[in-house]
Amino acid sequence: MIVGVPKEIKNNENRVGMTPAGVFELVKNNHTVYVQSGAGEGSGFFNQDYQKAGATILDTIGQVYAMSDMIVKVKEPIAQEYDLIQKGQILFTYFHFASSEALTKAMIKSKAVCIAYETVEDEDGTLPLLTPMSEVAGRMAIQQGAKFLEKPVKGRGVLLGGVPGVAPGRVLVLGAGTVGIQAAKMAAGLGAHVTIMDVNMKRLRQVNDIMPSHVVTEFSNEFNIRKHIQTHDLIIGGVLLKGAKAPNLITRDMLKDMRPGTVIVDVAVDQGGCVETTKPTTHEDPTYIIDDVVHYCVANMPGAVPYTSTVALTNVTLPYVLKLANMGWRSACKLDKSLSMGLNIVEGEVVYKEIAETFHLEE
Ligand code: NAD
Repeated sequence: MIVGVPKEIKNNENRVGMTPAGVFELVKNNHTVYVQSGAGEGSGFFNQDYQKAGATILDTIGQVYAMSDMIVKVKEPIAQEYDLIQKGQILFTYFHFASSEALTKAMIKSKAVCIAYETVEDEDGTLPLLTPMSEVAGRMAIQQGAKFLEKPVKGRGVLLGGVPGVAPGRVLVLGAGTVGIQAAKMAAGLGAHVTIMDVNMKRLRQVNDIMPSHVVTEFSNEFNIRKHIQTHDLIIGGVLLKGAKAPNLITRDMLKDMRPGTVIVDVAVDQGGCVETTKPTTHEDPTYIIDDVVHYCVANMPGAVPYTSTVALTNVTLPYVLKLANMGWRSACKLDKSLSMGLNIVEGEVVYKEIAETFHLEE
């Protein structure tokens, strides 16, 4: 199969759909890979790295789309790309169709085979192509939180790890899922005292088993949250209700119970946030302050660390890319139930129930 890797043209997107290691595996399996010139630069991979791995570099995005059977990328195609997509071409990328009717209609019109990373689903209901980005965001939440606790940026002036003779900072993590566990682990590694809360006792038992003793689990309810926000320096929002808006666990009135300079990193901002005062921010201007509480609410946290994010993403997409290239999408999806869950729009037909329902289209 001929696999194409275009440069991402969405604003501020520095990730790329495939690393040189991915190219190497595909070429080893007798596939041809076309990479657009400069596609990997934002992630630290250069044309010569791809060439060494066996790719052919093409000058323009138009050539990559025109000459490939399958396009592997990161973000959904934007309007400039719609007309480049070929009938019957496989597009393997994040789509998030439910958030854009224009994109959905354009992909129906293109008659391409759209396989969405975000709906590839394992038997236990986990989303293997979303997990790495939550891992990145969870770990980054502590790095960012620690930075914004510094006084010159209006934080409480607390060093998370403390020093001999001074107690460490206190981190409250809401949600013990992928984001929460990674955040707790990073905070614990810095020596901070960590309280992690969830409504799922299985999750709390798991955390209790694997974390050191300065990571304390507590059941998530309003009473406990109201108590802990008064004594914690950094609060991480990592809750998720699948397919729904995140619950407002911290309401506006609770901010006045926090100490001035407390930092909230609401990772769940992409689902509306678990703090009532959350509104999306960008890497250029990541924080704002309400009632002396610093809010960090960047909706695409992994975008700031494109090298790590690209490698983490392609580690999990590559096995599927190989299957699609080796067998074609029909056989690959027949044999792999998880991959078949990724089929969203196939040759003009919406085949994913929730998307059809969102836009009142026929499935
Ligand atoms: P996850 O499903 O692994 O974990 C969510 C956890 O929240 C679960 O353990 C669940 O039991 C818990 N939860 C639900 N209701 C709760 C409550 N009332 N109190 C406490 N815990 C509760 O999800 P995840 O992968 O960790 O993702 C968390 C959020 O982070 C999602 O909204 C995701 O989209 C978002 N995210 C944001 C970025 C970003 O750049 N901002 C990046 C990656 C993920």
